[in-house]
Amino acid sequence: MRSLVLALVASVAIPAIALPTKVLAQAPASASANDPYYKAGEAALARQMAVVPNTGKAKNIILFLGDGMGISTITAGRIYDGQLKGVDGESNSLAFEKLPYSALSKTYSHDTQVTDSAAGITAIMSGVKTRNKIIGLTGAAIGEKCETEKGASVASVAELAKADGRAAGVVTTTRVTHATPAGAYAHTAYRDWEGDGDMPVEARQAGCKDIARQLIEAPDALRLDVVMGGGRSRFLPDGKDGKRADGRDLTAEWLKAEGPDSAYVTTVDQLKAIPAGAKHVLGLFANEHLPYEVERPVLGQGVPTLTEMALSAIDVLSKNPNGYFLLVEGGKIDMGSHLDNAKRTLTETVEFSKAVEAVLAKVDLKDTLVVVTADHSHGLVISGYAARNAPILGLAGNEGEPILAGDGKAYTTLMFATGPGGPEGVDARRDPAKEDMDDVDYHQQAVVNLPSSAHAGEDVGVFADGPQAFLLRGVVEESYIFQVMRHAFGFDAKKK
Ligand SMILES: [Zn+2]
Repeated sequence: MRSLVLALVASVAIPAIALPTKVLAQAPASASANDPYYKAGEAALARQMAVVPNTGKAKNIILFLGDGMGISTITAGRIYDGQLKGVDGESNSLAFEKLPYSALSKTYSHDTQVTDSAAGITAIMSGVKTRNKIIGLTGAAIGEKCETEKGASVASVAELAKADGRAAGVVTTTRVTHATPAGAYAHTAYRDWEGDGDMPVEARQAGCKDIARQLIEAPDALRLDVVMGGGRSRFLPDGKDGKRADGRDLTAEWLKAEGPDSAYVTTVDQLKAIPAGAKHVLGLFANEHLPYEVERPVLGQGVPTLTEMALSAIDVLSKNPNGYFLLVEGGKIDMGSHLDNAKRTLTETVEFSKAVEAVLAKVDLKDTLVVVTADHSHGLVISGYAARNAPILGLAGNEGEPILAGDGKAYTTLMFATGPGGPEGVDARRDPAKEDMDDVDYHQQAVVNLPSSAHAGEDVGVFADGPQAFLLRGVVEESYIFQVMRHAFGFDAKKK
């Protein structure tokens, strides 16, 4: 069905090439024809041959960013997702894995082999590689040096969309001032300057603005129309819920600036009840990051899911007849991995996939480019010959018969390179066979003990469909993703 739709809408249809086929006279005996893998391969070939590149312009672009969602996280996530659904996890696919175009993205930053989220999102959103900790500035800027912000600012695709008369928004499970969402609107020498209380006095006195202020004080023409996530504390005066040193209530200032067709909401019920005419929505659903999905029964009451936020954001942004840009971040995939806690990572990955699935069902790929990627990988590894359909959070080896390592102990299929699961001091390795590996707070083992697991530096995946999505193929620089989005919006033609 998708291929038929694409064939009808592509402005330059490239027909699938039907190669002549023949029956081989001397064909070797083969039992493959009825093999389920063989048949699945035939079906996949037919699907790929029917894909017609959409060479049209994008009215809308939706960028899904799974923070820290490396390839191993995707693989483990698809297995976990399948096992939750009671189907074969290994051959299961997350929603974005079914998109017809994919690429590998090289994530190193301007100054490091392994990027952080600040430099990563700057590459994706603005097309330049910068130094770790820096957002929306070229590599000429130096971390935590306020004076180096001057003259280094780079425009994000969200800002370009706004400047072109479209709507733009950001949805995240982290604080909306955290590195990835800030990549849509902020320009700062230090990602941790989320509120003024997070900044040294000298930086404030030198005129550098905290990230929350940048969000609220952006010029009318560039200010984001939709912002949803956590981080209320950076917008409210110092006190019960707030952490602002300047005493300002930025939520009230935002409402005033945006005018009558705007809504500020703090619960999922309020989000669902926003007036039909609302064109600007600020949703801050927690003081800090939103809770993990596994914490939802206790801490997540009244907090919308990533899926609910993404769908609601599209409803609001779609009111702009010129189109929109939306960044949707699954920000806590990364945070679960920093804990060496695969259960949190995988449940966040499954929710991220659900959000992609719901959005794909809602938008028209004829005029909407959907890109799904990660800013960097994490040190998660899948290893050890567990049997098909063995619980992905369990032991390596056949269930009931774990493979023993040289120290006589079992080990888990999922492990991390570094992090709090690593050995402390000269302690012998923990024996996972004596632990509850399905516990929500379980730390997978790591080679090296660090308070927080370090990011990993191998390439990450890019998955896409819609106008110009076919340009996302091969092995590309992370900063190239910006070029495809800019081109899909048609901004290159307007430059001169
Ligand atoms: Zn991280």
